[in-house]
Amino acid sequence: MTNGRASVGNAAQLCSGPSAEGAVIADRQIACTMCGARHSEAAWGDLVLSQRIDAEEIGRLVRGWPEARWIEVRACHCGHLIAARRSAAASP
Ligand SMILES: [Zn+2]
Repeated sequence: MTNGRASVGNAAQLCSGPSAEGAVIADRQIACTMCGARHSEAAWGDLVLSQRIDAEEIGRLVRGWPEARWIEVRACHCGHLIAARRSAAASP
């Protein structure tokens, strides 16, 4: 039963691996699916707002939708409309 001992050792290594934290993207960016441009939080606010769907409205369609979360649709520089979930916690 040497296999059993080996797998326990591997599991311990996976749990303490530091690589997972480094892989997380620091800034939340919204990517355009058409041209591939990535918009940071600040750049997103500069894009032309096409539509904003408030939590109250989404709540009628989606059960359990959080109150502090809404959807914004903004136009990318390429003209493509991007819909993104926004939350009050992200903007102070
Ligand atoms: Zn684009």
